Amino acid sequence: MTDQTEFRQAVQTGDSVLGEPRRYLVNIDSISTHQLFTDCLVIGAGIAGLRAAIEAAEHCNVIIVCKDTLENSNTWKAQGGIASVLDRKDTFESHVADTLETGCGICDKGIVELVIRQGPELIEQLFRWGTDFDLIEGHIATTLEGGHSHPRVAHAHGDETGRIIAETLIKKARQNPNIKVIEKCYAIDLLTNNDNKCLGIIGYDMQRGFQIIWAANTILAAGGAGRLYRETTNPEVATGDGIAMAYRVGAVLQGLEFMQFHPTTLYVAGASRALITETLRGEGAVLVDNKGQRFMKEYHESAELAPRDIVSRAILSQMRKTESTHVYLDVRHFDKKHFAQRFPLINELCENFDIDVKRDLIPVRPSAHYMVGGVKTDISAKTNVENLYACGEVASTGLHGANRLGSNSLLEGLVFGKIAGQFASEHKKADASQLRPPLIKYQIPHSDRSRLDTDDVRNSLRALMWRNVGITRMAQPLMEAQEIIGFWQRYVMDKVFDTPEGWECQNMLTVSLLMARTAKEREESRGVHFRRDFPDPDDEHFKKHIEITRGE
Ligand SMILES: Cc1cc2nc3c(=O)[nH]c(=O)nc-3n(C[C@H](O)[C@H](O)[C@H](O)COP(=O)(O)OP(=O)(O)OC[C@H]3O[C@@H](n4cnc5c(N)ncnc54)[C@H](O)[C@@H]3O)c2cc1C
Repeated sequence: MTDQTEFRQAVQTGDSVLGEPRRYLVNIDSISTHQLFTDCLVIGAGIAGLRAAIEAAEHCNVIIVCKDTLENSNTWKAQGGIASVLDRKDTFESHVADTLETGCGICDKGIVELVIRQGPELIEQLFRWGTDFDLIEGHIATTLEGGHSHPRVAHAHGDETGRIIAETLIKKARQNPNIKVIEKCYAIDLLTNNDNKCLGIIGYDMQRGFQIIWAANTILAAGGAGRLYRETTNPEVATGDGIAMAYRVGAVLQGLEFMQFHPTTLYVAGASRALITETLRGEGAVLVDNKGQRFMKEYHESAELAPRDIVSRAILSQMRKTESTHVYLDVRHFDKKHFAQRFPLINELCENFDIDVKRDLIPVRPSAHYMVGGVKTDISAKTNVENLYACGEVASTGLHGANRLGSNSLLEGLVFGKIAGQFASEHKKADASQLRPPLIKYQIPHSDRSRLDTDDVRNSLRALMWRNVGITRMAQPLMEAQEIIGFWQRYVMDKVFDTPEGWECQNMLTVSLLMARTAKEREESRGVHFRRDFPDPDDEHFKKHIEITRGE
């Protein structure tokens, strides 16, 4: 039984520490706010959050919240597949070696081995739960992707892997009487007591308004931050909220300078930056410039199958050389019928923009894709904040190091989702329904500055991040980015917003500044972080993660 005194909280005021965001983004008065109780609260309903909820529900009751509908997540959009050793000719050692090599010296080898060894069992379990993986001779089919030395990427319905996996997990979660799913419930901040133990969240439910969810344990699975960039493959929900709220609560963050850019997203005016999966290159698509010339061989011996960061930089360099805004993917040699069956999403996308894949080249360029860094966790998915766990893209477990091997992120979400759910439920302290509502009062001094157009701030921020903290970086633009974001923060962070758009804007500014800071601090090039002024790795000073905590 939990000692209920740990749920008491003194009245706090919202004065911000100089240069730091306030502890909470909104005023809190727990007495007058609607309250829910649970043993385990999961924030986010992608692969990591759903898998965590299903695991935790074996032992306790669970609430899972997501800020939009269940279909709006990076997981839902994932195309290529999920990497694992499923083929008899493949080995764990080979998958481990590929992951370590892509991570450029700063992966945690123990974590890499753990994730890779647990993969096959959990993917087989997904299959038993109903995920309709593509099969070959009765076994899960696997394909090749850049950076992998063996075909080990399992896929479902061609390029709809994420949606098919998500649907399986959503169905499983919905059928579980121990899981309550609340859609359109925005987690604003993690609540803590005076000993900085996590107590749940203050959130905003689109139907009920402000709401406190008290939880014995909280699992943060709020996904990535691609929307910090003008060009991105990520859906609207990926605004870095999880990283920002973890930062405000004092969690250790690491690796924020490592944003992975996907080399090939469709570049057609008016289209969102839809991803053209890497498996297309794995299965024979080639990159050509605006003169129709293949160029990848000039940049890397593996040509189109080189790691993502190398392909992204090669495309950027070729775009500069040829003074073009994009390059092209050439799939004209594919059988048209096979292409439509194997890549139905891409086929439909191209048709929508009148691109005949048998006749035309597909215009592509790189976009922000995957947040490699995040909230630092240990082997049990624990953060440094008591009762707070993290998993999926929001977390930094040490699996990816300085770069993520393609299709390893769904795998990480699956494995660490299970681990987080297991530990958060084993270490639940109490039947949360027996807890008395604690008192939390937090008041923010009134700001008399004028109203803000947050859309304008967000658009300007995303353009700045693309320009100054993008695929290649330099000290001066990184310093300029910090100055500009700092200036915007002065009049955005003192406001108290009452809609998700405002809180997202504050979170985006918080995370962007931290990314620009760490990108400036890492004076070397490693993995996805490329400094034009320091183009080589510097093992002596930087063969490790840069950590950041609020107030330090
Ligand atoms: C286009 C695309 C293709 C990809 N293809 C692949 C692939 O083939 N293979 C692969 O391994 N990886 C792929 N990835 C990456 C992979 O999809 C993600 O890394 C992974 O799905 C992340 O899962 P997650 O559960 O951590 O987060 P997500 O799936 O992004 O889920 C995050 C959840 O958090 C919720 N949330 C966020 N903020 C809040 C808040 N403030 N309050 C409440 N809820 C919140 C969201 O609503 C959402 O439910 C792809 C990504 C994209 C965008």
